[in-house]
Amino acid sequence: MWTYHPDLLARPVPRYTSYPTAAQFTDQVGAAAMAEQLDQLPADAALSLYLHIPYCHDICWYCGCNTGAANRGQRLSAYVEALEREIALVAARLAGRGRVSRIAFGGGSPNSLPLVDFVRLLQQVTLCFEAYDARISVELDPRRLDSQWIDAMGIMGVDRVNLGIQTFTPAVQTRIGRIQPLDMVERAVEGFRRLDVAVGFDLMYGLPGQSSDDLAATLDAAIRLKPARIALFGYAHMPRLLPRQRQIDAEALPDLPTRFAMAAQGHDQLVAAGYRAIGFDHFALPDDSLALAARAGGLHRNFQGFTDDPADVLIGLGASAISQFPGLLAQNEKAAGAYRQRIAAGQLAASRGVARTAEDRDRGHIIEALLCRGEASPGSLPIPDLSRFESLGLIRRQDDRLVLAPQARPYARTIAAAFDAYLQAEEQRFSNAV
Ligand code: SF4
Repeated sequence: MWTYHPDLLARPVPRYTSYPTAAQFTDQVGAAAMAEQLDQLPADAALSLYLHIPYCHDICWYCGCNTGAANRGQRLSAYVEALEREIALVAARLAGRGRVSRIAFGGGSPNSLPLVDFVRLLQQVTLCFEAYDARISVELDPRRLDSQWIDAMGIMGVDRVNLGIQTFTPAVQTRIGRIQPLDMVERAVEGFRRLDVAVGFDLMYGLPGQSSDDLAATLDAAIRLKPARIALFGYAHMPRLLPRQRQIDAEALPDLPTRFAMAAQGHDQLVAAGYRAIGFDHFALPDDSLALAARAGGLHRNFQGFTDDPADVLIGLGASAISQFPGLLAQNEKAAGAYRQRIAAGQLAASRGVARTAEDRDRGHIIEALLCRGEASPGSLPIPDLSRFESLGLIRRQDDRLVLAPQARPYARTIAAAFDAYLQAEEQRFSNAV
């Protein structure tokens, strides 16, 4: 169903988990701007909390997350203490304003913490915020998931867990530094199912030495385990930016046409198995809230990817976590040490970010609408040159709307990028320079 147009995939485009993207962040935005946003939050505003745990027991070679080795107990407990203080600091600043509708733990691996620390953090959130009916989700590393952790998720009322898997093929697991036998994942899924905790899987294509048969076998195994959601990401090899990726044999990586074919294969296999395609890299069973939201036009995009979370405000807690307000994006100190110092001094930890102008918000809405709903109304914004996409039948104009064709899915980000004023300006600069 998908046609390969290499020219449309030649230039890298952002994943648009926000607009403007993190590339526009500067140190002109910091704790003062963050405090102002918290002060202005309406009393009844729905808000989501994201808690970042930047540690993992075993660092995978492909990983692009801000995470380090969880090999020193003292470092971990100092971090948890700082996080507890930050939760209290932010809540004090809000002085009772805002109702928490979602609490997400991510990283890194939240289960690199001692379980007792995880419980402490969740308790701190519920003590400091009005969050009694919030939906809770946690990212987990199956390699370190014992029965105590699994049971605790059920006992603490966690609604959803997301398991990092990537591939079930042992030879590919060896090449990416993540050994994780299938039966380990099976046991975890059975445990969560018993406790009525919804499960999601993160999988990858484009891994070193991964064939299309390997991908098909991994997807078959995943389909058999029937997680409510599957995210199928393309591996991005950027060893200059991410030194840990140097351990990956670049020679064994599939080329661009093969990656494209793998993305298409994954899409077709999951859709044939009854999953609904959500956005450009997510899949959900038809009765999952993400699929229901997508059908009702309520799909959104934030730093956690595609979401059914309608809250306009997301507060990121922990080192490198990003907060999202209609008028501001603000990122906490990236390094755990600097983050702890800021919090110990009683300051908010935001140290970078960007203020969103009215035009940014309009452009952001169009980009989000194209990626989440496959259509957008540009309103008063000038429509960029889309003739190449139109001539290929990937997009059409209908009344005042732009509508993506179903086969435009792999190009959705490229098309959305036409509305990214910062990227266009940058490319203009580059082309002028040559
Ligand atoms: S467990 Fe997840 S976050 Fe940690 S290193 Fe591996 S991929 Fe990265």
